[in-house]
Amino acid sequence: PAAGTVLLQARNVTKRFGGLVANNNVSMDVKAGEVHALIGPNGAGKSTFFNMVSGVDDATEGEVRLMDQAMLRRPSRAFARLGMARTFQHVRLLGQRSVVENVALGAHQRAQRGWLASMLRLDRAEEVALLAEARRQIERCGLGAHADTPAASLALGQQRIVEIARALAGQPAILLLDEPAAGLRHLEKKALADLLRQLRAEGLGILVVEHDMEFVMNLADRITVLEFGTVIAEGTPLEVQRNQRVLDAYLGG
Ligand code: ADP
Ligand code: MG
Repeated sequence: PAAGTVLLQARNVTKRFGGLVANNNVSMDVKAGEVHALIGPNGAGKSTFFNMVSGVDDATEGEVRLMDQAMLRRPSRAFARLGMARTFQHVRLLGQRSVVENVALGAHQRAQRGWLASMLRLDRAEEVALLAEARRQIERCGLGAHADTPAASLALGQQRIVEIARALAGQPAILLLDEPAAGLRHLEKKALADLLRQLRAEGLGILVVEHDMEFVMNLADRITVLEFGTVIAEGTPLEVQRNQRVLDAYLGG
C-alpha cells in the first residue's frame, strides 16, 4: 500500500467486561509509512484495544476495519491473512533453536494449516524456501551475523528484534508491537528505534503500545493517549506533550 493509505481503522470501539468499560469509544487510524503509538497509564485499556484490533477479542460495540474490510468477530488468522503481524509483550522464542529456525517457524505458523501437522508434511523444497525467507528477514533486521545462534544466547534487545523478523516473515503490511522497548538497555532501544524507522521508510504501518515516553516521543508520527479506557489526546508527539490532560494524567496534577 502507498504511504498514507489507511491500513487499520478503529471506529468508536467500546469493550465492556461486565460493568467495567475497558475501552470507551476509541477511534484510531494506522497508515502505511507511519508509526502510531498508543500510550497511557497501567490499566488504561491498551492491551484490550490491541486484542480487539488483532482478532484476539471482540469489541462490545464499534467497528474494526483492516485493509478496508470489516473485521468484527473474525478470528486472528483472518487478520494475519490480510497482512497483520504482531509481537507479544513477553518474548516467545524457542531458546535452544537457532534464530533462523525461530523465524522460519513463525512464518510457517502463519500459514493456513496447523504448523505441526504441516511440518511433518513439509517437503525439502518448502523447507529450503522457508529458511531462505527467514534469512532474508534476519538480514533485513540487521541480525545476519546471529542467524545460526541459539535464540537464548542473544541479548534481550536482539531477541526482540528476532521476534520482529519473525513477524516480518509473513510479509505483513502492518505490524503491532506490544511494549517492544520494555527492559531494554539504552543502546538496544536505539537499535530497535532505528529498525522501526527503517521499516516505516519501507512503507510498513506500525502500531506500538509502549511505556517508555522518550522512546515513543522520538519515534512516533502520531500518538493516541488513553486514560480509563477513553482517548484523552491524539496528535503529534509535540501536540501530545503540550496537552494539559496528558500532563495531568501523567503527573497526577
Ligand atoms: P493496559 O494494557 O493499558 O494496562 P488493559 O487493557 O490490560 O490495560 O486493562 C484495562 C482494564 O480492563 C483494566 O481495568 C483491567 O483490569 C480490565 N480487564 C482487562 N482484561 C480483562 C478481562 N479479560 N476481564 C476483566 N477485566 C479485564
Ligand atoms: Mg497492557
